Amino acid sequence: MSDQEFFHAGERVGVLTTQPLDRVLDYRAPEGGCFLGAYVEVPLGPRRVLGVIWGPGQGDFDSAKLRSVNRVLDVAPMRIEMRQFLSRAADYTLTPMSSMLRLATRAPGLSDPVSMRKILRRGASEPERMTDARARVLAALDEYGGLAFTPKELSDLAGVTPSVLKGLVKQGALREEEAPRDLPYPHLDPELPSKTLTEDQAEAANVLAQAVQNGAYGTTLLKGVTGSGKTEVYLEAVAACLRAGRQALVLLPEIALTAEFLTRVEARFGATPAEWHSGATMTERRRVWRMVGQGNAQLVIGARSSLFLPFRDLGLIIVDEEHDTSYKQEDGVLYNARDMAVLRAVMCSAQVVLASATPSLESWANAEAGKYRRLDLAARYGAAVLPEMRAIDMRVEKLPSATWISPTLRSAMSKRLERGEQSLLFLNRRGFAPVTICRACGNQVACDHCDARMVEHRFQNRLMCHQCGETKPLPTVCPSCEVEGKMAPVGPGIERLGEEAALAFPEARIAVLSSDLFGSARALKERISEIVKGEADIILGTQLVAKGHNFPLLTLVGVIDADLGLQGSDLRAAERTFQLMRQVAGRAGRAEKPGEALLQSFQPEHPVIRAILSGDEEGFWKAEAAERQAAGVPPYGRMAGIILSGSDLPAVFDLGNALARNDGPLRAIGAQVYGPAPAPIARIRGRHRVRLLVKAAKGVPLQEAISRWIAPCRLKGDLRLNVDIDPQNFF
Ligand code: ADP
Ligand code: ZN
Repeated sequence: MSDQEFFHAGERVGVLTTQPLDRVLDYRAPEGGCFLGAYVEVPLGPRRVLGVIWGPGQGDFDSAKLRSVNRVLDVAPMRIEMRQFLSRAADYTLTPMSSMLRLATRAPGLSDPVSMRKILRRGASEPERMTDARARVLAALDEYGGLAFTPKELSDLAGVTPSVLKGLVKQGALREEEAPRDLPYPHLDPELPSKTLTEDQAEAANVLAQAVQNGAYGTTLLKGVTGSGKTEVYLEAVAACLRAGRQALVLLPEIALTAEFLTRVEARFGATPAEWHSGATMTERRRVWRMVGQGNAQLVIGARSSLFLPFRDLGLIIVDEEHDTSYKQEDGVLYNARDMAVLRAVMCSAQVVLASATPSLESWANAEAGKYRRLDLAARYGAAVLPEMRAIDMRVEKLPSATWISPTLRSAMSKRLERGEQSLLFLNRRGFAPVTICRACGNQVACDHCDARMVEHRFQNRLMCHQCGETKPLPTVCPSCEVEGKMAPVGPGIERLGEEAALAFPEARIAVLSSDLFGSARALKERISEIVKGEADIILGTQLVAKGHNFPLLTLVGVIDADLGLQGSDLRAAERTFQLMRQVAGRAGRAEKPGEALLQSFQPEHPVIRAILSGDEEGFWKAEAAERQAAGVPPYGRMAGIILSGSDLPAVFDLGNALARNDGPLRAIGAQVYGPAPAPIARIRGRHRVRLLVKAAKGVPLQEAISRWIAPCRLKGDLRLNVDIDPQNFF
């Protein structure tokens, strides 16, 4: 099938729509015809919906009743590799095609006609009289050689008032034009000088650049300690890709998408790239989507869903912090962006670079098995050395009740304060206190809709359920025994730790970083850039501070509860703790001054804590791999989770039992079913949750067997069934 396949007006075509019908519908091609892959608007009942010409019609629908495609949208048709990618991703994740298409069209106003706006260009004449302001405007235009700007962009860029621009227009020094609202992105220049790479960096960069030039598929694990210059190295791969005239995509965990990162990209290529993330405005999203399709965006920096953008010629995908759990989408279409990046690259002959200081065991094992190339950067760049890591044995520390900063950690913080350096305290718990208990009857306040305790958020002065988001005021009377004035917080959250730090160091400037304390992602990012500049002495943070931020003045990291992640029964508990602790510790000492990381632990002799401290990463991975191999679990076996939910518990269990009994299709491939059992969180938003777990050997057709297994299920009432292939979180 060629991309150029064309359907003439009236011909029968198959259209995949974004509506949950799970099959391609037949229509007649519109007047003027349409290409295969064209984005179209079609009538569906009384509505008009978005769709894509997926192929010739099936012919099984009465041709007398066949309706016509309303119109073809003014955007580039979907390319064949994108159609293949969506199909393969749907098969892999067992997701209906309509949901995949919705993922691929998440830009508002796609069906709107191209709208116009006013732009300014350099005109033919010189201004009659040159002023400083006028000169700045013309210099700004010269600098960006031939580019046009909106009046607002140009006045910001040159630092002049709109009236200066008006004057220049009147004199013919500027020319006004109407242009489509969605302008191409400024040209990125790979020939601008890069930083001078170290020998190790240059070697890695050359290998990647060569691979990109070859223009075939390949995946590389780029492993390098935090601060070793992985970003500098992969930006050279991006340069090679731009030189080859192909597009590049850099995926970052949502929260790591900072202004700091964009500044680095701009410094390397001379202009800012396109950005795609949940904080982008509707107009920005539409512009990115359209320009990517036309090839007028050379580089996109984006969160996981940017993988589904309609790139014209994608040659390179970087997955930075590839181990990050936020790459797994846990809502709607359950996909792992890391795995989907590889799939997409296979379809369009692109290179993938998975960058991390602490790779996922999956990627490590793929490199060991020779499926991925592996490049290592062993040392930090420049004078920076890896932080010294030590455990603080909490069994021997003397702490007053309701405090969590040990005397040892506290004195290390005092030293930093005296020297004008920053300290970071890490605690992976949002809110003030994880539990609110009645001291009269022992009752713990739970959510009314979920199997979860309510977490006190003092900043908002409410209790909150971290499962469903429900909040309620802090009770003064126990909801259970009705005794008054006995409700008390138990345990620390990041806000409570903030209070303790403020009491211990009244003279220090303290910053608490937790996603829920900021009104918007933008506000949080602004706060982070202030801290980078030194506007805080003590930083307290949850998981989000572990991700990619560069605090040059930070020399001490204190982990309040290093044992926290080891308690669950999750198969990845050890791996996650190892990654998180090494990442957090890696925040310290990124500039000239050496860093130190102190881990408060009640079990410092635990093998995982010992591995974290010793820094014997290969040893840790090998031991962890051996254990998983013996148990036949990922990455050495396959798993899938089936979550059944509904408001009627017996009905949910009946369905689970029926599935477990009729496991023929699974037995046929040698897979086992476990359950049904209540899911670890047995109720969310009033819905009961029951889980089945499927375990299979590697290399068996698991998805196909699961499809056949669940096909006979009739979901009565509000029953729901979700399949999670390669589950990451067991909740
Ligand atoms: P990573 O991505 O591995 O954590 P970065 O690429 O962010 O590391 O590099 C860490 C710091 O060192 C950054 O500030 C970066 O600009 C700087 N750096 C790394 N390599 C070089 C180099 N070759 N020349 C100059 N600065 C460098
Ligand atoms: Zn709840």
